[in-house]
This record gives sequence, C-alpha cells and structure tokens, in this order.
Amino acid sequence: MIDLHTHHERCAHATGSLRDYVTAALDKGVKVLGLSDHTPMFAEEADHALPPVAMPKSEFPSYIAEALALKEEFARSIEILVSTEADFFRGRMDPYSRELAGYPLDYVIGSVHMFEGRDIFDTTRWETVEDSEAELAAVKGRYFRAVAECARSGLFQVMGHVDALKGNHPKLGTVPAPAAADEMLRAIRDAGAVMEVNTSGNTKAHGGWYPEHDLLERAHHFGVPLTFASDAHVPERVCDQYPEVVRVLHDIGFRTWTVFRRGTPRTVPLA
Ligand SMILES: [Zn+2]
Ligand SMILES: [Zn+2]
Repeated sequence: MIDLHTHHERCAHATGSLRDYVTAALDKGVKVLGLSDHTPMFAEEADHALPPVAMPKSEFPSYIAEALALKEEFARSIEILVSTEADFFRGRMDPYSRELAGYPLDYVIGSVHMFEGRDIFDTTRWETVEDSEAELAAVKGRYFRAVAECARSGLFQVMGHVDALKGNHPKLGTVPAPAAADEMLRAIRDAGAVMEVNTSGNTKAHGGWYPEHDLLERAHHFGVPLTFASDAHVPERVCDQYPEVVRVLHDIGFRTWTVFRRGTPRTVPLA
C-alpha cells in the first residue's frame, strides 16, 4: 500500500501529529507514506497569511526537519517520502520555486484550490452560476484548463484532486467536458507528472473519488501514470478505500502506481 498525500496539525485544519500519521500507516501495513502538508503562502507578505489554510512560513523548516527525522527513525519499517501540497497561483509561483528549492523534497503536489478568484470548496460561488448543463460544462472545462496550466508550469510531480471543483457542487461530477479533460490529461503526461486518485471526496458533498471514473479511463487511454492519495486530514483516513481503488484501476487496465524519490519517478506494482 502507498499513500502520497497526507496532512497534519500544522495546517490548523487537520488533526494529529506527523508521528500519528506514521503510526496509523504502520498499523495498516502501508509501505510508502508521503507527508505532504499544505505549503505556506510563500507569495504573501505576512508570515501567516491564511491561518486556517496553511502553516506560517517560519514553521516550514521545522516541518521538513521533523519529517526527515521520522523518515530516518522508521526507515526499517516504512518508506517515508517528504513533500508538500502547494497551491497553484498563475504568475505568482516564483517565491515557491525559490523556497522549495532549499529542501530535499521527494515531490511536490500541485493543486488548484483558488479558481477564478475563490476557493473551489466555497459553496456560495455557485449561487451566481447558471444551473444549466452547458454553463456547468464550461466552468468545469475552465477548471481542467487551470489544472493543465498547473501541470505545464513544471513545478509539480503530482497533480492533486484534478476535478475537486465538483466537491461541493455534485452536479459537476457528471457534466461532460471531454475536450478540456483530454487536454489536461495530455498536459499532465507531457509534463512527466502523475495524477492522484484521491479518495477524500467523501469528506465533501459530492462523495466518491477525484477524479471520476470517466477520467480514469481517459487517463489509461493517454498513458497518464497514477498515484494514490487519501488526502487524510485525520490519521485514521490514511489509505482510506485503498483496496477499492486498486480493484477499479485494475479493471480499467492499470498495473502500476508511480512514486517519487527526490524527484525521480519509480513505478511500483498496483496491489
Ligand atoms: Zn487541507
Ligand atoms: Zn488539496
């Protein structure tokens, strides 16, 4: 079992220490665990720009140091990968590249949380969007194109929850936006990145996984590699629904996961 996407208490909206997530992973027999808490808001002036979203900038060195110490301490029983989940802000990523270059990260997850000026999970954003299939497909297409841009930035190895826009607006789950979806998938593949299969949908209104089944089939068609992501914000969710995901991916035709060690992709059997 692998899980490349977990959080912990430093971001202030997850619970449990890094050690708690490692312990939960050990209990479940996880072989590769990625610690990937939200990246500080490096493009902002303030040390702690968005208290409930991400840790202060000044906290990041101790986060990495603690993660590296755990990696060492548990090296015989589990492979711990050290990472962070960064927000993608068009045109504002230079401070991120500069800061992150100073750490021995295994990979960086790139996620589009802010889209067209608002948080994707902010339910009030849908009050002003027309509830027609055409309008929703257009919004979804624009989100996929934002994720494609995130992939093309070349800053990330893992693309986080690529259709999470549907999280708090379930109607977006089934609205088709095939052209933009395919453009996004090719962008991820061509960037040498991988797509998450993220099981945290059940913590939002939509339920299910990111991405939806249709995107997984398209990803297989285009040869987009995958990795597993619980996106756990509580230790008990580490590897949540892992066996179900493996079964579905196997049926589609996938046979491997991809993990990253110091930026280098390695495939491991999908099992
Ligand atoms: Zn979070
Ligand atoms: Zn996220």
